[in-house]
This record gives sequence, structure tokens and C-alpha cells, in this order.
Amino acid sequence: MKELPKLYIRKEECCGCTSCYAICSRNAITMKPDEEGFQYPVIDGNICVRCYQCIKVCPIKAAKEQ
Ligand code: SF4
Ligand code: SF4
Repeated sequence: MKELPKLYIRKEECCGCTSCYAICSRNAITMKPDEEGFQYPVIDGNICVRCYQCIKVCPIKAAKEQ
């Protein structure tokens, strides 16, 4: 199976916009609060079908590619 998408490695790479969570048709993404209460996406590898829509919709990844 293809690799699980990496939505962010460092927290600076995610602003918690929830676009990835909203686009996932499988509901494989859950927004979970960190110790400071900021929400970060977590992917359930058992549900994820590796369509990478979540990566495509992420504004931070789009900004990096420009
Ligand atoms: S790759 Fe597709 S199925 Fe997996 S979390 Fe992203 S949008 Fe959901
Ligand atoms: S789309 Fe990108 S910036 Fe928005 S919550 Fe998901 S990983 Fe974070």
C-alpha cells in the first residue's frame, strides 16, 4: 500500500485550518487538540485510502510549492 500522507512534520507546517479534515471523503482525519489546545489533524491509517486529497487542499503545502 502507498505511504500514508504526511500532513505536517513540524507544527509550524499546520495552521489548523481543517481543510484536510473537511475534504476527506472517508472521514479518516480527526482534529485532535495538543497540550495547548490547538487542533492538529491525525490520520487513521486503517481508514485512509491514500487518495492524497488532503495534501492537495492544504494551503501551507500549496504555498510552499510556489
Ligand atoms: S489521503 Fe484521502 S483518505 Fe487519506 S486522509 Fe487524505 S483525504 Fe482522507
Ligand atoms: S489542511 Fe494543512 S494547514 Fe489545514 S489543518 Fe490540514 S494539514 Fe493543517
